[in-house]
Order: sequence, then C-alpha cells, then structure tokens
Amino acid sequence: NAKEQNVEIRRYIPSMQMKAKERLKLENDLRRALERNEFYLVYQPQVQLETEEIVGMEALLRWEHPKRGIVSPVEFIPIAEESGLIVPIGDWVLRTACQQNKEWQLAGYRHICVSVNLSMRQFLQPNLAGKIDALLQEIGLDPCYVDLEITESMTLDKETAFDQLNRLKRLGVFISIDDFGTGYSSLHYLKNMPIDRLKIDRSFVSEVMEDSNNAAIVSTITSMAHHLKLKVTAEGVENKDQLHFLRQQHCHEAQGYLFSKPIKAAEFEAAFLKPLLG
Ligand code: C2E
Ligand code: CA
Ligand code: CA
Ligand code: CA
Repeated sequence: NAKEQNVEIRRYIPSMQMKAKERLKLENDLRRALERNEFYLVYQPQVQLETEEIVGMEALLRWEHPKRGIVSPVEFIPIAEESGLIVPIGDWVLRTACQQNKEWQLAGYRHICVSVNLSMRQFLQPNLAGKIDALLQEIGLDPCYVDLEITESMTLDKETAFDQLNRLKRLGVFISIDDFGTGYSSLHYLKNMPIDRLKIDRSFVSEVMEDSNNAAIVSTITSMAHHLKLKVTAEGVENKDQLHFLRQQHCHEAQGYLFSKPIKAAEFEAAFLKPLLG
C-alpha cells in the first residue's frame, strides 16, 4: 500500500534531501513564530576597558520552538534570510530592542547604546533608513543610542553600501562592522566607508594567547582602528589573559562570557543597570 511504499522510498532518500525536508519544516515553523510570540531577545553587555563601565549591549535573537526548545540563531537565521522572513523578523528585533532601551532610559538608568544585528536582506532594503527613522520617532529614542551591526560581506557592493550607510549615518545611528577580519574587505574602501566601529571576530580573540598569528591580527586591527579613528570592540572575551592583552593593545571595548553570557532583559537589568543607579 501507499504507506509502505512511502517508507520504502524514504529509505532511499539521500541525507541531503532529508535535510532539505527538515529545513522546509523549520521554515514553515519560522513563518508562524512571530505571530505565536516564540521570539525573545537576550542582551550581552559591552564593557569599556579603561573604566570597566558598561557602555552598551548587544541584542541577540532567541527562538523558543514549541517542540524543539531553543533553536540557535546560527541554525534559523540563514533560513530566515533565504526565505525573506528575516525582514519582518528583523523589524521585530529592531523594534523590541529599541523599545527596551527606551524603557530603561525612562526608568532612570544611565543611557547606553543597543547594538542590533542586521542581515543582508534587511540592509538591502532601499527604505531601511526611512523605516528606522519612523520607528525611532515613534518610540522617542535618540538615534545615538542605536548601533547597527553589519558584516563585511554587506559592503562588497560598494556603491549600494555607501549610499545606504550614508543614509543611516544621516539619521544619527552608530554603525559597526561585525566579525571583522573574517570577510573580504579592502582597506581602501574601509577608509572611505561611513562606519564607526570594528568588532574583532571571536575566532581571533579566543586564541589570542595560544596563537601568535591571532595576537598579531588582533593587535593590527586594533592599531588600524585607532589610526582610522574608529572604535574597536573585541568579541568573545572569555578570560583575564585575553582581557589583559586587549588592554595592552588599547582596545576600547570588550564583550564576552568573561563579563556575561547574553541574558534576558530582566536579568540584564538586575545585573548591569540597577547597580549603576545612585
Ligand atoms: P554575532 O553577531 O557574532 O554574535 C555573537 C555570538 O557570540 C552570539 O551567539 C553570542 O552569544 C556569542 N558569544 C558572545 N560572547 C561569547 C564568548 O565569550 N564565547 C563564545 N564562545 N561565544 C560568545 P548567538 O547569540 O548564538 O548568535 C549567533 C549569530 O546569530 C550572531 O553572531 C549573529 O550573526 C546571528 N544573530 C543573532 N541574533 C540576530 C538578529 O537579531 N538578527 C540577525 N540578522 N542575526 C542575528
Ligand atoms: Ca553581532
Ligand atoms: Ca560578531
Ligand atoms: Ca559571528
């Protein structure tokens, strides 16, 4: 019968196709995740090395799947990106992160900046700056407290990236290049891009003490950032030795498990904002 046949056929489906099926299932679930309120944000502090003050936080997306539990963004962001779902999801992330930041400002905490990751599709929207402008006006959040993290690959189409970044800079938001050093980007146009900060990729920082090549890369990126008058943040800082090295290099800021894993809003408030009061 048909059911048996199905089982027989499935036995011969190569694993790639099974993966495609699995992926389609995840995409369908992702399609409903927004309306079902399955997303939430976690926040990770960004610490100024000179003062050890919290100067910012990165908002990171989490998906609590009703059956699978927490699905990693590494797994679902690419699917969201390819299906185009990243645009409404990204809008939700921006809105939620900005609203949260405004709420904390209204509660009387010291004002800090919230970093939000942008994906390629979002970045390519011609009306992105207009959308963000309208959002910030609606919420009443000053654009100087918003940082947009893009990756090097988004700047490869130089003309488009340049126009988009200029529009965003005119709004007054902060722009960071995430995972810096892992993509291709010509130093020549890095020089001309209207950006504010480089975030050194975790892969270099994590082995900075063990691998002298990584140490050289971190030190070079940091010094280049200083020369270009860009801020520089190290990501993935997990221990004191790494922190010490980064201080020696005059890296401005650090982010990583040494300070905190990304945590839910209420936890972040209790651990990092309340202590700043008074
Ligand atoms: P990312 O933007 O490079 O974010 C940093 C990732 O490193 C986060 O993983 C964070 O939890 C992790 N991390 C931070 N400190 C440490 C550390 O000290 N050690 C280690 N081992 N890991 C650390 P997460 O949250 O799983 O996010 C993974 C990636 O998913 C992000 O990488 C980003 O590319 C993407 N992503 C997350 N949220 C969003 C979002 O709202 N929109 C978009 N477009 N992408 C997102
Ligand atoms: Ca990031
Ligand atoms: Ca990163
Ligand atoms: Ca990354």
